[in-house]
Amino acid sequence: MKTAGRESKSSSNQPRLNAGKKGRVAVIGSGVAGLATAIRLASDGYRVQVFETAGQPGGKVGEHWESGYRFGLGPSLFTLPELLDDLFRYAGADPDQYYRYHRLDLICRYFFPDGKVLNAWAEPDRLAKEFEAVLGEPAGNVHRYLAKVKRIYDLTEPIFLQSSLHDWRTYWRAPWLKSLAGLPGLDALRTMNASNERLFKMPNSVQLFNRYATYNGSNPYKAPATLQVIGHLEYNLGAYFLNGGMRTLVNAMHKLAVDLGVEFFFNTPVQQILLSEDQKIVRGITAASREIPADLVVSNMDIVPTYRQLLPGSKHPEKLLNQPRSTSALIFYWGMDREYPALDLHNILFSSDYEGEFGHLTETRTLSDDPTVYLYISSKAEPGHAPRGGENWFAMINVPHIAGQDWDELIERARAQMIRKIESTLGLPVAAHIRTEHRLDPRGIAARTSSHLGALYGNSSNNRFAAFLRHPNFSRNIRGLYFCGGSVHPGGGIPLCMLSARIVSEQVRIRS
Ligand code: FAD
Repeated sequence: MKTAGRESKSSSNQPRLNAGKKGRVAVIGSGVAGLATAIRLASDGYRVQVFETAGQPGGKVGEHWESGYRFGLGPSLFTLPELLDDLFRYAGADPDQYYRYHRLDLICRYFFPDGKVLNAWAEPDRLAKEFEAVLGEPAGNVHRYLAKVKRIYDLTEPIFLQSSLHDWRTYWRAPWLKSLAGLPGLDALRTMNASNERLFKMPNSVQLFNRYATYNGSNPYKAPATLQVIGHLEYNLGAYFLNGGMRTLVNAMHKLAVDLGVEFFFNTPVQQILLSEDQKIVRGITAASREIPADLVVSNMDIVPTYRQLLPGSKHPEKLLNQPRSTSALIFYWGMDREYPALDLHNILFSSDYEGEFGHLTETRTLSDDPTVYLYISSKAEPGHAPRGGENWFAMINVPHIAGQDWDELIERARAQMIRKIESTLGLPVAAHIRTEHRLDPRGIAARTSSHLGALYGNSSNNRFAAFLRHPNFSRNIRGLYFCGGSVHPGGGIPLCMLSARIVSEQVRIRS
């Protein structure tokens, strides 16, 4: 069930209790990266305190219960589970005592506007045959794509994902020299769409593989083809289901942190990061109008409000803070009173004009009349997430980040369009079967987690230099100040947030 972890600090099954000998750390925010950083630094011997605005941990990985329906508010797709296993093993804990997951045989069901329905199987031969049978795409093209995205991953992972891009030591390591030699293989000069059009014969295949740009809130008609690497995570490394849903991730990490002696302060927003008189060394934080001393401060808050609100008097890296932001999301959490056998756990109902849809998202910053709809139904895997005979629908469309739109008007229009699209695709009534409804839109995402402009993944990656324009995981000017989470290196999404925590703990080791 579990993949082997890459690093292990202890072979015992009990987490080590945090001794706090090395000094005090204040972590601002308990999103996935904040929790993972707290666990790593507590395991490294620091006394760690986590301050969180909300009443519970998890940030974007929230949960909502209503009339017997259970909804994960944020992420639904779980990839690279070994990063979570690594974290638990690093802390000397046995992952099996905290969570379980299983690999999905069917990753996603795709519904195209021409009526074709494709099952994206995890097994490569089965996947390639499905493309050939359903879309008329030669199976060899799918195999070539899988080999290409693996090549990109092997070249980029050690440099762009595992290490700080902003520490000169990274560039002395052998993998960097290998990446340098393989630079043309990264396909950074072409867009993702241009590359997919070269690889695939059928427009439906191009549309399907273009979708991976949305996994970090980008536009496939602008983002470099290097981002095809995202497809590698799902197809070559696997898509997983975390038993109990994604909230299990937060509950497990929070429990481990508590087991390690990490102290949590909920409903306690941090108001300021305190610096020495010369502004060069971190002294602690102010929360609940109280000064709390700390040797290290790690901000899991979005990088923009971290500077603007918590460090008003210090020098701000304006170029990095002003990079274009990723897209956001509009989600309806619908409690359905019937089942829909044609749908699986993950489903995509594609729009008929994908390029136009992205034009609306990233250029005019409004919504198209025919948005692609993502339907995630965790009750297909966890029947307890909906009352008997019902389903819990997470119905999402990509929307622009906040830019002065009239959201109330856009949301009502989108709701009607989404329902119309699902009803015509399935040939079944939907509106009449919605028993409960909860909503999340960019304003809510910004308010709930302080995400600048409600962006889901920090900066967008719509140009080939984007990876270098994310904020480092440490401050160059203020000793003892670190940053983790989706708005800094290496980027948004659960796996990258977990990696940002690992890079922070590595940088703390190097710099302390
Ligand atoms: P965040 O979740 O952004 O949390 C930051 C925390 O800091 C919050 O709890 C906030 O309250 C707290 N905070 C902020 N300011 C302060 C302050 N001043 N004092 C104290 N606390 C503060 N990723 C995937 O991998 N797969 C998916 O399928 C996926 N789908 C998604 C769908 C949606 C709808 C959303 C919203 C996100 C999705 N993501 C997905 C992205 C993923 O959820 C995020 O990248 C990740 O959870 C961000 O974690 P983070 O560590 O950056 O912290």
